[in-house]
Amino acid sequence: MTKNNILIIGAGLSGTCLARQLLKKGHAVQLIDRGENHSTAIAAGMMNPMVFRRMNKSWRLDEFVKEAKAFYLEMEELLQQPLFHPLVIRRMLSSEQERNYWLERERLPEFQEYLTPITPEDEAYSQADNPFGSGRVNAAFWIDAHAFYHANLNQFFDQNMLLKESFDAAQFDAEHLSYKGVNYDKVVFCVGYEQMNTPFFSELPIQQTKGQTLRIRSNEIPENESLNRKCFVLPLGDQVFRIGATYEWDNPDLTPTEEAKNELVNHLSVLGNYDYEIIDQQVGIRPTVLDRRPILGEHQHYKNIYLFNGLGTKGYLMAPTLSRELSECMLEGTPLDKEISIERFYRKSK
Ligand SMILES: Cc1cc2nc3c(=O)[nH]c(=O)nc-3n(C[C@H](O)[C@H](O)[C@H](O)COP(=O)(O)OP(=O)(O)OC[C@H]3O[C@@H](n4cnc5c(N)ncnc54)[C@H](O)[C@@H]3O)c2cc1C
Repeated sequence: MTKNNILIIGAGLSGTCLARQLLKKGHAVQLIDRGENHSTAIAAGMMNPMVFRRMNKSWRLDEFVKEAKAFYLEMEELLQQPLFHPLVIRRMLSSEQERNYWLERERLPEFQEYLTPITPEDEAYSQADNPFGSGRVNAAFWIDAHAFYHANLNQFFDQNMLLKESFDAAQFDAEHLSYKGVNYDKVVFCVGYEQMNTPFFSELPIQQTKGQTLRIRSNEIPENESLNRKCFVLPLGDQVFRIGATYEWDNPDLTPTEEAKNELVNHLSVLGNYDYEIIDQQVGIRPTVLDRRPILGEHQHYKNIYLFNGLGTKGYLMAPTLSRELSECMLEGTPLDKEISIERFYRKSK
């Protein structure tokens, strides 16, 4: 097999997962990242298998979840760093209708891995407000997002695979695929919500969806499960919890706001009247797409220049599989699924 030399711009979740897939196949990788991250590193890193209210499985869940778990466990080994934390989510049901959906689904074989049948103990659960009962979601997990970004970045840097700088478009020759005088076989843009500031794919509809979370300390909130209704309560250990997250469409501003704090405090109060202190507030921007599907593929005019973006709210679930699929498309010509392919936008613009 011919070994390719591949330049990846952006070492967040998308760039890092792609780099790991390419390295595993024996290719050479050069990453560029300015070392400042406002998405991958500040995410809660949660993987919730369910879309609540209508109680559907998350898109392509069965495929994504197995590969994601194996990928992050492999990353733990490689980076010598704990990253993967299994989780039980306790959904406090929000209506009679949601409860009925749960009761229908819990009997179906395709949901058995994810939904524990509701027990009398779940009905009587008293550590959160419980007007419609509660249910436990299995096979969830969270990734230590801060550690994932920084440990990968440090290892790439130590192994001379990372240029810690801003990508300088003036030094990039798209015809010959060279950057600062070095030639590459393929180039991939993995720049997240900053897409419109980078050349080649700036016309694609990557939206900037601001998200804010709180870290709180409480002796009263249960630590063995992640409570969920209106917001998630992610136990981080030592009585510290992450509460999230807000959604603010088309807002790239990185300032924490009082409104978001109040919204999260109000949402938490729906779960119970707990005593807690706020430790701090985090702000980040998700790269989202209106049709809620990521965008992957080759530029319509420039051969061997690719995009991997739009991971949205479920990046930690999707990135391991999608990065593998993109690597297979780049190296073996395997077509990408129509739902994620960049061609869905090029078709429209023709
Ligand atoms: C508050 C919040 C909570 C979230 N919680 C979850 C969650 O619980 N579960 C989940 O799955 N997902 C969650 N997400 C979403 C997840 O974080 C994103 O889907 C994912 O991180 C996007 O990764 P990315 O690599 O596309 O972008 P980024 O992480 O933004 O990475 C892009 C990288 O490119 C670099 N870059 C950009 N432009 C340049 C340039 N010109 N030169 C050099 N470097 C450049 C940046 O420095 C950055 O490091 C959350 C996001 C937010 C904001």
